[in-house]
Amino acid sequence: MSKFALIGFPLGHSISGVIHKAGFESLGVNADYEILETPPDDLVSRLKYLKTQDYSGFNVTIPLKLPISLFVNSVDRYADLARAVNTVKIEADKTMSAYNTDVIGFRKSIEDVSLYNKKAGILGTGGAAHAAAVAMSEMNVKEIVFFTRNIPNSIDTMNYMRRKLPDITFNVYQIERISSLEDYAILVNATPVGMLGKAADMKPVYYNTLSTMNKDAVVFDLIYNPRKTLLLQDAQSLGLKTVNGLDMLIYQAAAAQEIWLGKKPDVKAMKIAALEAI
Ligand code: NAP
Repeated sequence: MSKFALIGFPLGHSISGVIHKAGFESLGVNADYEILETPPDDLVSRLKYLKTQDYSGFNVTIPLKLPISLFVNSVDRYADLARAVNTVKIEADKTMSAYNTDVIGFRKSIEDVSLYNKKAGILGTGGAAHAAAVAMSEMNVKEIVFFTRNIPNSIDTMNYMRRKLPDITFNVYQIERISSLEDYAILVNATPVGMLGKAADMKPVYYNTLSTMNKDAVVFDLIYNPRKTLLLQDAQSLGLKTVNGLDMLIYQAAAAQEIWLGKKPDVKAMKIAALEAI
């Protein structure tokens, strides 16, 4: 039996195991997927464990998406651009190749949306925000604005993105000071604000601010539980197009399986399993 896992901390809420198992089943692959809580201080010993116990690959989540890159043998273009790794393949010789499939997941979730030459706003500046920025750069946006509660801490991200993606204008604004989103084609929530068990009764932007968006704008909340956050409820009541994080979660998992196994799992089966687990 092949072995796969998710590492990160804390992982209590994760439905990744259910999604991956449905994917393996759809491919007729005999494989297991374990949830292995790994605090940052245990990362090195966890990696040793995964290699010596013959795991074939693993996913990585907060807070390890950046530090993991120090310990792998190669990173793909998306992981390099996003400075975040969410998928690792352990090769037969025990070398580790790292990837970012969140970028793929994000892009596939809004395949029908055109962002060519448009302006995009991203709430948050963590790993998911980076992946969203890389995905939207591939969709040829003109400008990306990161909204953050900590501008000094975001300068490094900003400079890195500007250097790596010189065709796109990057800016950063204080999240608490957003007053108008008039000229934004899309607003992405890449903060945990609105997530079940964290701040489900909170919104990352006020209704009045959201109401300044054009009627053809998209609000994409990367949160998948609840499926309709307060932000998405507001957006829907304003007639805006809404997308939640479930498809992104499924597509990033499917892309990880393709990297590990060289075969495409059935995303529909994976989605049904996820919906049953939420
Ligand atoms: P992360 O690296 O911890 O980043 C979180 C970001 O949110 C940081 O910029 C943080 O700001 C900001 N933030 C946290 N609390 C905030 C608040 N109260 N007000 C304003 N900003 C706040 O996490 P991540 O991995 O990027 O994940 C972010 C979200 O995306 C989570 O909800 C996660 O579940 C979701 N996600 C979904 C998928 C999917 O497949 N659907 C994939 C990845 C992530 P500071 O830096 O100032 O703390």
